[in-house]
Formats: sequence, structure tokens, C-alpha cells
Amino acid sequence: PAVKKTLSDHLQKYEALFTLRPESMRSLVQAMEETFHKGLQKYGETVPMIPTFVFGYADGTEMGEYLALDMGGTNLRVCLVSLKGQGKFEIKQTKYKLTEEQKHEDGQKLFDFCAQCLASFITDDLGRNPEDQALPLSFTFSYPCTQTRIDHAELIRWAKGFGAPNVEGHDVAAMFAKSLAKFDVPIKLTSIISDTTGTLIASNYVDPNTKIGVIFGTGCNAAYMETVGNIPKMKHLGMPDDQEMAISVARTRYDIIIDESSNKPREQIFEKMIAGLYLGEMFRLVLTEMIDAGDLFSGQDTNKLEKEYALDTSILSLMESDPTDELLTVIGAFSYFFGIETTLEERRFFRSLAKLISTRAARLGACGLAAIVSKKGYLEKGCSIGADGSLYGKYPGFADRIHQGFVDIFGEAGSYDEEAKGRQTFSQPVTIRSAGLYQLSV
Ligand code: ADP
Repeated sequence: PAVKKTLSDHLQKYEALFTLRPESMRSLVQAMEETFHKGLQKYGETVPMIPTFVFGYADGTEMGEYLALDMGGTNLRVCLVSLKGQGKFEIKQTKYKLTEEQKHEDGQKLFDFCAQCLASFITDDLGRNPEDQALPLSFTFSYPCTQTRIDHAELIRWAKGFGAPNVEGHDVAAMFAKSLAKFDVPIKLTSIISDTTGTLIASNYVDPNTKIGVIFGTGCNAAYMETVGNIPKMKHLGMPDDQEMAISVARTRYDIIIDESSNKPREQIFEKMIAGLYLGEMFRLVLTEMIDAGDLFSGQDTNKLEKEYALDTSILSLMESDPTDELLTVIGAFSYFFGIETTLEERRFFRSLAKLISTRAARLGACGLAAIVSKKGYLEKGCSIGADGSLYGKYPGFADRIHQGFVDIFGEAGSYDEEAKGRQTFSQPVTIRSAGLYQLSV
């Protein structure tokens, strides 16, 4: 009979499968750089390189009060940003929860709700009167859109569990403006942007050395500034070659899901290995593989664990941050979510597996960022990267693993100052740091 595999045999196998060697990372960086070039040449390429119609950075002299509305997957955040000039600002923020129902009822109703939240924020939280001057508002709407102007965005298709009818194919700005007018909210909608572009511009305002904005959240996307002369697919617009425009790089989350069921499954592998949406699922797939082989949880009912997407990435976070010798949080998580009892040996194995999967994700993320750094020649001058998203902000060690990825790709040039927790940029060419905007909120 076949010898039963031990957990340590399994771990060895998965280590070999999930470990990314520096050589492979460097060839991946090169391949990605080529894909970026293609995406700038034509529409409809693997990496779409989406023009954002955001022309250049803030110059630091901007002052005054601006509203921001961020429609994430779960929350609606409304912020008042007071720009004080010279990279200084203050944020006042309120969160509103979106119900599943709101994500699926008529689209105009969803924007009505946004308008009502804004109205209550302006009057209740800011104490402003309806007759006060209208505040300018930027709408962070991170769903795949076609833009031909900064204040116009046609939704291609919903993502992140949204499905509100009558929005796809429509101009989101116009729909939102209609809701603002309906409730007499004294606001002027000035722009629609994605979370990556927002992170890029906001981080650059604070640290002008920031050249890339990146999100490690439900999805994984980045944005950077390109000169129009390097975007052949925009030539027909006749803009000056040296005009700068922010480009949103990676694929959107929904493209991936679409792709998954398409005939080109290999093309979405990259993001699938990085994004928050998928890491828990990858972990779960490994476990089900072992369950099928009869090497895990024998005799227990594993039905709950065998449902697609049953294991959220935050559980991997929990496993890695459990401070107890017995891994008590892991015991709790498995019994609470899946009704499964675990042995200490299994829990240790899970923790190692979580580390393998998340480390690979961070290192692949580093490759994508390195491809932008390399394409733009930022290594010579050095640059900061502004990062945001729950995976980046909450997963223990994720940021450090990205740094290690830079070191492996660029050599020591990509190292960072441990003491300064990545916050210093002068002696290290490439530094990733938290965009940190929400931490500053009151
Ligand atoms: P969004 O991308 O929708 O704006 P977030 O940045 O909060 O929202 O990202 C949500 C993703 O982050 C989800 O896929 C979730 O699994 C993952 N996530 C949430 N909390 C954690 C955590 N503590 N550790 C790791 N991943 C997390």
C-alpha cells in the first residue's frame, strides 16, 4: 500500500510550488514591462493601461476644502479633506454601511443613498447650511469604467458583488449629479477616479517622491504617471507629447472573474495569486486537495470548508498573527467557521501554508511594481510607492515581504531602512509605504 504522506511531506511539496526564486521574479518583471508597453499601444490588451484623464500631480500649493466619496465593496466613506498647502492636510471622515439590498436595487436609488449620506455629513457632521457655497467633490468609484473626461465615467460592468440595474453602460457622474440635485445637496461633482489614481495623487501630495500608487485590497491594481507621447493609443486626441497623464495599470477584479470562466484562463493567473479576494481561496483549495487525498481532518464533516470562497483572506492574517503556542485563534477560527477540530500539528502546518501563499502574493506584487519602476527608470532617481488596501494594511508582514521582493529583484538598491519602517526614502531608491490617509482621519 502507498505510504501515507505526513504534513511535513505536504509542506515540502507546497514550499517547492509556492516559492518564487529571484531569477523567476526578474524574468517576470521583464515580461510584465513588455505587456505594459502593449497596453499603452492598443485598447483591449491583456493589461489595459487605462487613461484616467488626471493630468499630472498636485503641486503642493493647493489649498481649501474638498469632499471625497469612496464607494468600496462594503463601506461608503465620506471625507472632508482640508488642504493646507505644502503637503499638509486634515481629514474628517464618516463611514456608512451599504446593505446587500442596496447593491442590487435600482442604480439611481444607490446614488440617491450616496447623496443622502453626503447631505447628512454636510449638515450634521460639518454643520454647514444649505445656502453655503457648494463644495467640490471627487468620487472614488473603483469599478471598470470608460473615461473620456475626468468628470465622466461610463460603467462597463459592476464588480465586488454589486449588481444594481440601470448603471452599466451609463455615465455614473450624470446619474450621481441627478441624485445630488434631487436632494438639493450643495455639491459640485468635479471628478471620478479609481482608488489607485487617488492613492497616487494623494501620496504624491504628501511625499512628492511618490511615483506609484498601489492597492492590495479585494483586488490588486496600480497607477503611475505617463507622458502622452508614450501612449500611442491616445495620439488621435492631439495632446502635447510631454503632457502627463495618470495610467491605471492592472486589470480590474471583475475582469478576472470574467476571464476565469473564459477560454484563456492563464492570462489572469497573475492577479489571482495576489489579490485579497483570492488568497483565502487558494489556501482553501490546498486544504481540499489534502482532504481529498485523505490526509486531513479524517472522519470529520468538511462540507462547510468545501464551499467556494468559504475561507476569507483575513483568516490567513489571523493564523500568522496568532501569538499563542497552541495557536488558539486558529482552533477558534476552524471550529467557528467550519465546525472542524484541528490538531496542533495541523495548525502549525496551516500557519506555514498561509505564510507561503501570502509571501508569494507579496513577491508577485513586488514584480508588478518593479516593472513600473523599471519602465519609468525610477531606480536611478529613487521613488516612493504609496500603498493602500486591507491586505497591505492588515496582513502581518505583507509590506516587509514586498520590500524583500524589491531586494531580490533589484539587489541591495531595493532595500529599505528597517529602523524607519520604510518611511525614509533618501538612501533607498525604492520604498513602499502606507498611503496612510485613513489613519490620519478624526
Ligand atoms: P476594497 O478593496 O473593497 O476597497 P479592502 O481594501 O478593505 O476593500 O480589501 C478587502 C479585502 O481584504 C478582502 O478580500 C478581504 O479578504 C481582505 N482582508 C480584510 N481584512 C483582512 C485582514 N485582516 N488581513 C488580510 N486580508 C484582509
